[in-house]
Amino acid sequence: MGKWKKTAGLIGAMLVAASMVMAGCGSKDTGKKETAAKSPAAAKEELIVGTEPSFAPFEFPDGKDGKIIGFDIDLINAIGKKMGYKKITIKSMGFDALIPAINSGNIDAAIAGMSITDARKKQVNFSDPYYDSGLMAIVRKDNDTIHSLADLKGKKIGVQLGTTGAMEAEKIEGAKVTNFDTSDLACIELQNGNVDAVISDLPVLQYFLKQKGSSYAKAVGEPKKGDHYGIAVAKDKKDVLDGINKAMKELKDSGEYQKIYDKWFSESK
Ligand code: GLN
Repeated sequence: MGKWKKTAGLIGAMLVAASMVMAGCGSKDTGKKETAAKSPAAAKEELIVGTEPSFAPFEFPDGKDGKIIGFDIDLINAIGKKMGYKKITIKSMGFDALIPAINSGNIDAAIAGMSITDARKKQVNFSDPYYDSGLMAIVRKDNDTIHSLADLKGKKIGVQLGTTGAMEAEKIEGAKVTNFDTSDLACIELQNGNVDAVISDLPVLQYFLKQKGSSYAKAVGEPKKGDHYGIAVAKDKKDVLDGINKAMKELKDSGEYQKIYDKWFSESK
């Protein structure tokens, strides 16, 4: 009898627990709908944002604890907060995995120094541009034959997979292009002498040269300007996109955007 009582008690407890879980989900859902009806800017739970964290100073691991920091991270945190999200979660993945993750619903948005391009615009929506960028080439310091992009014909070029730098390299006649998972890896291969040049984003290579890269690398030729970074969002999440644009405008108007910009791009950096 005692055993039966125990089992019955256990089943009872399980039923109570299950109904609590169900009630929890239910009340959470209703709660969300109610707040949404009252005010669209009211507290939302979580904004999940994808990035590829080897792109300093936009997104990269902090030397101390490996936490992802950078201009993009500060910007999206400020945007998410303005939009009323309680929590902003950063998810790391390969650069070429970001757009598929947006479209499968794994992430709500991506901020990754991602250039707004016509090809990408077919797959996702972009926020208003938040940073003007461009492309640049670097070679080893001791290289005295490559002086411009034109000199890269037939050379070995390292790039990051799925980026505008990779597309640019593919256009160069006879170039042997090697795709790496990150720009950092492409730079290491330049140091090792396995590639003659790296093509990547202007602000990222400039930061790299300032930080440590100038010990073995130098910039060549004129940068190719005219690129703009945008935050990518799924085509069917118009509300998220509108919220991002509205928050970004407010941050620009209030001077908060400028503060974040200065933190990462001041002369002393
Ligand atoms: N801006 C480049 C692009 O969009 C590179 C971005 C990156 O490597 N994170 O392709």
